[in-house]
Amino acid sequence: MKKKPHFDCVALIGIGLINSSLARVIRRDSLAEKIIGCSRSDATLEKAKKLNLCHSYTTDVSFAVEGADLIVLGVPVGANKQLAKIMGPALKQGAIVTDVGSVKRCVIEDVKPHLPESVHLIPAHPVAGTEHSGPEAGFEGLFENRWCILTPEETADPDAVEAVKNLWLQAGMQVDSMDAYYHDQILAITSHLPHLIAYNIVGTAYDLEVVNESEVIKYAAGGFRDFTRIAASDPVMWRDVFLNNREAVLEMLGRFSEDLSVLQRAIRWGDGDTLEELFSKTRDIRKGIIQAKQV
Ligand code: NAP
Repeated sequence: MKKKPHFDCVALIGIGLINSSLARVIRRDSLAEKIIGCSRSDATLEKAKKLNLCHSYTTDVSFAVEGADLIVLGVPVGANKQLAKIMGPALKQGAIVTDVGSVKRCVIEDVKPHLPESVHLIPAHPVAGTEHSGPEAGFEGLFENRWCILTPEETADPDAVEAVKNLWLQAGMQVDSMDAYYHDQILAITSHLPHLIAYNIVGTAYDLEVVNESEVIKYAAGGFRDFTRIAASDPVMWRDVFLNNREAVLEMLGRFSEDLSVLQRAIRWGDGDTLEELFSKTRDIRKGIIQAKQV
């Protein structure tokens, strides 16, 4: 059952697309007495301030988390370790540390060793986003009807899990819990590999010598356009995703390459049945996604 959560003080570490959207939800629904926005640069904090996302702003991570009962890491996953080292000693007893990162095993490995025993780590991944970054890109409806995956360890405190779950339910998400390893496997095929393919296809088009740039842009509606949207996603965020979910992505990439070879062979030998059979199966997956309202 959904229960409106309430926190005394929420510290948002990183105030980009995801955490700024969360700040909007927390403000809209009065889920906290105080929101502290923390970012690496003054420029980003200035943008957050103009949008009135938080009650106070700082670039000092230790200062931001002192006294907070909920801390949300919303930075590229490769930055978590360094931030956890800094904030660990400043955390309040019993505080909940969560995150929004797209890879989950690395959060447990990188963050947990730096937290005091009394602090609860409840990793989370709101599976919602756009190709845009920064506080201005956020909006409160971002999470509506999407899934959020929690990956608490078996020993995690049930009340802390419940608090994080209620936060995302309040943001309009459906919430699932699973093992971090399993999460990383699933997301490797549903999110990480599609991004890699998009980056690669756009890169290939960019390097083509037979087609010039203006032709690529002019005829983009032939399918290329949809890849360019995905390939416009934040380079640092995605660099960190691939570096931190290496094994699962390589496993999926191996399978993908094998399947691609089958298509390559079918095209070479004029085997229309193989092509048509696959293209019909993939249509059904699309129908399923539409029926589940995940478009
Ligand atoms: P974003 O809009 O690019 O914002 C990133 C924030 O992190 C900014 O406040 C930035 O600070 C800060 N930051 C970047 N590098 C840092 C570093 N080395 N040390 C400290 N702070 C740093 O990012 P986002 O799209 O919200 O993504 C945040 C997290 O959400 C990522 O882990 C990502 O995997 C996850 N996620 C993203 C999406 C998506 O579609 N974008 C969806 C689900 C989950 P400055 O601007 O001040 O430099």
